[in-house]
Amino acid sequence: MGDPEVRYRRIQRDYQMAIRIYNTETKQLEEFKPITPGEVKMYVCGPTVYNLIHIGNARPMIVFDTVRRYFEYKGYKVNYVSNFTDVDDKIIKKANEEGVDSSVISERYIKECKKDMADLNVKPATTHPQATQEIDGMIEMIQTLIDKGYAYVVEDGTVYFEVDKDPQYGKLSHKNLDDLQSGFRSIQVTGEEQKKSPLDFVLWKPKKEGEPYWDSPWCQGRPGWHIECSVMSRKYLGKTIDIHAGGEDLIFPHHENEIAQSECANGVPFVHYWMHNAFLNIDNHKMSKSLGNFKTVRDIDAQYDPQVLRYLMLSAHYRSPLNFSADLMESARASYLRIVNCMDNVDFLLGKASAQKLSDAEAGLLPESEKFRQEFEDAMDDDFNTADALAAIFDLVKWINSNVNGSTSKEFLAKAKDLLLTLTDVCGLIAERAPEADEDETARIEQKIRERQEARKNKDFAKADAIRDELKSEGILLEDTKDGVKWKKA
Ligand code: AMP
Ligand code: ZN
Repeated sequence: MGDPEVRYRRIQRDYQMAIRIYNTETKQLEEFKPITPGEVKMYVCGPTVYNLIHIGNARPMIVFDTVRRYFEYKGYKVNYVSNFTDVDDKIIKKANEEGVDSSVISERYIKECKKDMADLNVKPATTHPQATQEIDGMIEMIQTLIDKGYAYVVEDGTVYFEVDKDPQYGKLSHKNLDDLQSGFRSIQVTGEEQKKSPLDFVLWKPKKEGEPYWDSPWCQGRPGWHIECSVMSRKYLGKTIDIHAGGEDLIFPHHENEIAQSECANGVPFVHYWMHNAFLNIDNHKMSKSLGNFKTVRDIDAQYDPQVLRYLMLSAHYRSPLNFSADLMESARASYLRIVNCMDNVDFLLGKASAQKLSDAEAGLLPESEKFRQEFEDAMDDDFNTADALAAIFDLVKWINSNVNGSTSKEFLAKAKDLLLTLTDVCGLIAERAPEADEDETARIEQKIRERQEARKNKDFAKADAIRDELKSEGILLEDTKDGVKWKKA
């Protein structure tokens, strides 16, 4: 059997499996091979900032943050870029309604979005570029596309990408161009009569009254939506990147157009792996602002610990649709609490344990815990199957609960804790909650508990009950266990 540490390293080495990713472009699971060994260059399309983000927007944030965390756990350095779209019709409309500059709206909601991300334990990106700060780069890429013959300027100064010039167009969304052409032909968009083909899309458009604008060689105006991601991805990650991700609604036209712009301008492949999350629905309906059946992350925060939402998002595979409902949130809460309670118990026992070092029996038992790590890694290696990864965490929780008690050594408890913390942290789930009470309050509560124990020893049950009730009225619940009295806030 040998030293558990050595065994554990051997298990790790033997099972070192490659990460497999479902690539939307090839529609296949592919082994992940980074462009630069040990590094991941990853771009995730971020929100348009004109409102508080809704829980649908939170799905890609949580899912791809977990992908990032898993790469980091595996030892990769991840360069993670996620943009804020801060120039857009909806932002301008809101700014005009409020009578303020559109930057007031976008800055306000970027700030709010960052608050929501922090609540959901989504790590800040390495870089969070904003479209309005990158206009020069966009003008330069558009000019390159014109110079290379992929884009054309019409009379009013609008610049279009000419889809017919790109033989690869449609490769991501697997759309048939002829079907698309005829579909689009039937939709007459006012102001777009000068397009050569209905599929051509805007790279730059002239300003309208009351809109922000920038000077350009073609007219005073602003960029189309798609060009910002091509430009920011190249600037912060390079011409070819490992992973580009977003919600499945972005496959067409946004990501298809990004590929066309980037590959025609740069002359090299744009992205090796395309990842798309399925949609979050609500009560079995598509979540939509116009139907009024959407919830913001802030709405959830008012009712639940945001970690419960994070848990819910990870309880399904990212490529499966997920239906948000109050019932599902309740069961997510119960599951999340099982993890937290296990950690609370380990912390409680750590505070009491008298033995420091592993007993022989514990030394024999400890290597068993590694099979949960393996189960976890197998699930995550398989296209980030977080549902199965959470199941592995629960197997670990069960194993810890049945193997720790008042006589467990500190070393065993610390190792169990470390593994549970490591795996939950890959999921971005906070297993060890910060003490809710400050030190003085903790000392006061523990003093009360000692007085109650004293009263019970003296058979003064009335006094003991009174102390319990007094604490209960403050929302502090006592639990008598064989290892001593535990307390928690209700
Ligand atoms: P938007 O601000 O609409 O560009 O959306 C920002 C990100 O959220 C994009 O990756 C979208 O695909 C994604 N998204 C929007 N709504 C949902 C939803 N209901 N479920 C999952 N992802 C969504
Ligand atoms: Zn994008």
